[in-house]
Amino acid sequence: MAVPTIELNDGTAIPQLGFGVFQVPPAETAEAVSVALAAGYRHIDTAEMYGNERGVGEAVRAAGLDRGDVYITSKLNNGFHRPDDARRAMAGTLEELGFDYVDLFLIHWPLPTLYDGDFVSTWQTMEEFKAAGHARSIGVSNFQVAHLERLAAETETVPAVNQIELHPYFQNHDVAAYDSAHGIATEAWAPIAQGKVLDDPALAPLAERYGKSPAQIVLRWHIQRGYIVFPKSVTPARIKENFELFDFELEPDDVAAIDALDRGEAGRNGPNPDVFDYVPAD
Ligand code: NDP
Repeated sequence: MAVPTIELNDGTAIPQLGFGVFQVPPAETAEAVSVALAAGYRHIDTAEMYGNERGVGEAVRAAGLDRGDVYITSKLNNGFHRPDDARRAMAGTLEELGFDYVDLFLIHWPLPTLYDGDFVSTWQTMEEFKAAGHARSIGVSNFQVAHLERLAAETETVPAVNQIELHPYFQNHDVAAYDSAHGIATEAWAPIAQGKVLDDPALAPLAERYGKSPAQIVLRWHIQRGYIVFPKSVTPARIKENFELFDFELEPDDVAAIDALDRGEAGRNGPNPDVFDYVPAD
């Protein structure tokens, strides 16, 4: 079944369901992405930090697909926020992928405690990448409301997307509400909380009733909430399962039952972007 697309604020369109490759070992990435492409995925989410952009490009070429048939996102790594470093990083990403553009390039983390708190010049460098055609769309990841407000006050371009941790246990309401009020599409990373939400007792009866797995129920909830998702798996059966989301629809009461699982800040699984300051070693 066809994956719906979401129109971004720059007029481009992104498939609402994709395939994420965080923690897929570089040597296994081409194989996992090949399985995903064969299952029908046409949107891949990678990052320089994951070390596996090369395998993404290899799999797209091996599938015999045209570049324009696959939506590829990558991200600026944390050590490269200064404009000249960012320019080298953008070139490095294209080199690794083996393509001359990405569909979407994101600032991976805002790092407000580093670079003298300056992510504005980094964003202005991202604007250059869009103008030069290296990235068709530009966006951010892990930006909190205060970071987005600062970009709005000091720069010209509203990010096309904000990729944030978001799943039933951590629904990140403040950021998602800011995004939606300002025309920024929300991408939900760790959409199944890296597996941790799947044993929740609320999901088993829904899975039973719809004849779907708990992962499919949660991913469908994201789709109906309007979020963009790209679950990760290295398991072929799960890769296929996670793609089968468009032959059923959750009733409003069942969407509400999953809404009720939110634990607020206590449900956050990953780092808090206000203090996260990890910079990988060279
Ligand atoms: P996910 O929520 O996608 O969960 C992945 C985990 O769930 C893996 O352990 C996988 O196991 C397991 N899993 C996948 N499908 C199923 C299934 N159907 N049934 C049971 N278990 C399943 O976590 P991610 O952190 O990977 O998030 C998804 C993507 O979001 C990433 O790959 C990346 O692209 C992006 N991301 C972005 C971040 C950012 O800072 N911008 C941070 C983190 C993620 P297995 O692989 O063994 O099958």
